[in-house]
Amino acid sequence: MAGTTGIIGGGIVGIALARALSARGEHVTVLEKEARLAQHQTGHNSGVVHAGLYYKPGSLKATLCAAGRVSIREFCEEKGLPYREVGKLVVAVDESELGALAEIERRSAENGVPDLARIDDPSRLREIEPHVAGVAAVHSPRTAVVDYASITEAMAQDVRMAGGSVRLGHEVTGIRSKNGRVHVTTPGSESVFDRLVVCAGLQSDVVARFVGVDASPKILPFRGEYWELAPERTDLVQGMIYPVPDPRFPFLGVHFTRGVYDNVHVGPNAVPALAREGYRWLSISPKDTWESLRWPGAWPLAKQHWRMGVDEISGSLFKPLYFQKARRFIPELKSSDLARKSGAGVRAQAWGRAGELLDDFAVDQVGPVTLLRNAPSPAATSSIAIAEYIIEHYLVKAAA
Ligand SMILES: Cc1cc2nc3c(=O)[nH]c(=O)nc-3n(C[C@H](O)[C@H](O)[C@H](O)COP(=O)(O)OP(=O)(O)OC[C@H]3O[C@@H](n4cnc5c(N)ncnc54)[C@H](O)[C@@H]3O)c2cc1C
Repeated sequence: MAGTTGIIGGGIVGIALARALSARGEHVTVLEKEARLAQHQTGHNSGVVHAGLYYKPGSLKATLCAAGRVSIREFCEEKGLPYREVGKLVVAVDESELGALAEIERRSAENGVPDLARIDDPSRLREIEPHVAGVAAVHSPRTAVVDYASITEAMAQDVRMAGGSVRLGHEVTGIRSKNGRVHVTTPGSESVFDRLVVCAGLQSDVVARFVGVDASPKILPFRGEYWELAPERTDLVQGMIYPVPDPRFPFLGVHFTRGVYDNVHVGPNAVPALAREGYRWLSISPKDTWESLRWPGAWPLAKQHWRMGVDEISGSLFKPLYFQKARRFIPELKSSDLARKSGAGVRAQAWGRAGELLDDFAVDQVGPVTLLRNAPSPAATSSIAIAEYIIEHYLVKAAA
């Protein structure tokens, strides 16, 4: 693979790719529209290094999460960055959830989740999480927490040291191919590369349109808001306490996470965002909202899942509703323990024309342009493995 590579996007995936290419002696240039790296999903997530409990066995998510977890751990060790295996407990609050819990256990075994244990004894449950209520659980002691923004900065440092270029404040507004090369425009410049990889997260469908590919999958942004536990009550949670997920939407339900800096977050929920990069209810982009409403898939989606939507929106607007859900897991929790809303992230959730969720990671190739079209959670965990996957299956193949 000779020549130059341009990468759009200074989130963890774009930077992990730049680092992997630089390590092979390739010349890379990253173009990031913000003034700093990791300003969107990468800097607004739960900071969890997932061990791969939920993902469909054999999917890219399952395989790249498993490989990515190990790579992120090794990277943190190498750079002296915090990596804490605080462990995750997926709790069945009542008997009705036991079937779904067994399915998680089965998937985890197929996915090779390390050291996973089924817990049926309430006293063992309380040894792990003394304040939790439930009839059974699965425990993943290797699920960890990190600071993905710091990891991205450290990876970018490796890129610069290897002679690569990371250009901040460079918003790509046009892409065209000419004589087998790619011309990339920003408001103040034009760059020419031998190949281009688009890792634009929430804007992946917008940037895909610059190369004239199908608008599907479309990003319909969903905001996830967090509450923070009052500092004097963080002892209610030792590691992570998660609900038994609906396998179709594993990101739903109240999650408690002890972060890498010992703060405890409750969330994220999932409410429609009225702007792709809208971190509050009042951040509204008429253009983004209009585009979401015009998407044919938005209506079947709304029709099918309106109850879930109303539930999530009500919990976002009325604290007592959210608190009731959270207290199912920790009966000692008081409303005042949810001390303050502590930020939010917006998920780049990709949907098809019929309103179907595109679950797995997805990549498209158009001439010399490789487009990462879907990289939702656990793409931060998987970032280094996604980078290797793109190189092996797209960049090396295209060059051969
Ligand atoms: C609330 C929430 C919680 C999550 N929790 C976890 C978790 O615990 N563990 C986990 O593994 N994953 C988690 N995820 C998912 C994870 O954060 C993302 O999958 C991952 O960060 C995707 O990285 P990325 O680089 O693809 O995207 P991003 O981090 O969104 O980066 C894309 C970058 O592209 C830039 N860009 C876009 N358009 C242009 C343009 N035209 N020109 C130049 N630059 C452009 C953007 O500014 C941005 O910096 C969570 C996500 C959210 C939202």
